[in-house]
Amino acid sequence: MNDLKADIVIVGGGMAGFAAALAAAGEGKSVIMAERQQMLGGNATQSNVGTICGAYYRSVPGPAVFAGHSFGYNLINELASVGICGEPIMHHNGLYVLHYQWSQFHSFLEEKLVRAGVVVLKNTEVLEVGRNGSKIEHIITTTNDTKTKITGLAFVDCSGNAILSRLAKIDVISTGNYQAASQVFRVTGIEGDNEFTVNMSLKRLISKLIAEKNFPESYRSISVVPGSLENGAVDIKFTLPDIISDDAALQQMLTEKSKNYVQVLFETIKNNTSIFRNAVIENIFPMPGIRTQQRSKGKYILTGSDVLECRKFDNYVALGTWPIEEWFNDGGLSLEYFGEDSCYQIPAECLTSGVIDNLFFAGKNISADDKAIASARVIGTCLQTGYAAGKMATCPAPDAMPEIIRQLQQDLAVHHV
Ligand SMILES: Cc1cc2nc3c(=O)[nH]c(=O)nc-3n(C[C@H](O)[C@H](O)[C@H](O)COP(=O)(O)OP(=O)(O)OC[C@H]3O[C@@H](n4cnc5c(N)ncnc54)[C@H](O)[C@@H]3O)c2cc1C
Repeated sequence: MNDLKADIVIVGGGMAGFAAALAAAGEGKSVIMAERQQMLGGNATQSNVGTICGAYYRSVPGPAVFAGHSFGYNLINELASVGICGEPIMHHNGLYVLHYQWSQFHSFLEEKLVRAGVVVLKNTEVLEVGRNGSKIEHIITTTNDTKTKITGLAFVDCSGNAILSRLAKIDVISTGNYQAASQVFRVTGIEGDNEFTVNMSLKRLISKLIAEKNFPESYRSISVVPGSLENGAVDIKFTLPDIISDDAALQQMLTEKSKNYVQVLFETIKNNTSIFRNAVIENIFPMPGIRTQQRSKGKYILTGSDVLECRKFDNYVALGTWPIEEWFNDGGLSLEYFGEDSCYQIPAECLTSGVIDNLFFAGKNISADDKAIASARVIGTCLQTGYAAGKMATCPAPDAMPEIIRQLQQDLAVHHV
């Protein structure tokens, strides 16, 4: 078995893990990141969800006002400067989204981590946790059948599925009431240059086929990913009919099933709409997008009421601006809004374990109920909880934590337009 050591160990290389790793490295700590896939970015790249939501306050009619740490603000500006993101676009009801270019995003993330000195272990899955009382001492990972023991002072679980708590055999939030998953695929060679028209022609066709009982109800949600239509290519997203459970084997099967769904759906679209008659599939993004799964249980569980009432907390370390967005297997979508220009706060207690002193959580794995995570799972908020958890993980002793939280709050108070 190989042996590695770092101050901070990050599990999961999605957007939360990325932010956590850079935050910890920025404090001068040695950082190792373990990611089980071959590509960094998690849902953002493996599933190509296509837009960054939750980075701005909801505001009608605008302008877009950024919400979050300077880290996220600088990141978005950097993404814009290298052409990965454009300007924020008003999606609907005052909600701003940023479309990003998938093809360059994952390499951008990796280069940035490596430049910051983070040791990135891809294709590396966490299998075991070595726990000693109220501390995690190490994790055991596997990379192409080679096992590695990674010892750390603190661990940040950004797996999106509470892997460290599960392996450490402590309680997790597991409601079984998970949102429907979606698959994104990219087609090229289409004959329309207006995103609205392309979107409507897809929706009209699929509604007709569902009415004729040729397609599952869930496909009703089919849509063009906002901002993705460019040079005759477009990203298309649709909701999968399968129920999402905690069963890892079923999730694995979903990846294969999803590819078949895309083939059948695409052939139908191609044969029934003039816009798509010469189109071809350019890419079926590698992973179906699983929105919610098991989550870590922290010292506090953020609730849907906290979100809708824009609740404030003394120990807040992140801000949530996105509505509660829930997707259902019948293709339905529910959006529950709070006021414009408002936010709720996410306290440090949602990012810290009540059982294991050196375990932190971030991203869609924070301590939140089903409703609250339906808001806090968007990328803009994942970047914030990731950044906050990464900083908190560097805390040398409990009495130093208030100062770290104070610094995070000071940063959140900066007004970026
Ligand atoms: C269909 C869909 C559409 C969405 N649309 C949008 C949108 O338009 N805008 C938006 O802002 N958000 C959207 N979201 C939400 C957002 O994309 C995700 O919630 C967010 O990217 C989650 O980031 P994360 O880092 O917390 O988790 P993830 O992206 O899930 O990253 C977790 C990482 O951990 C790794 N991992 C898991 N287990 C292990 C293990 N045992 N060992 C090692 N690594 C492990 C995974 O491979 C993964 O890379 C959407 C989500 C879905 C599913």
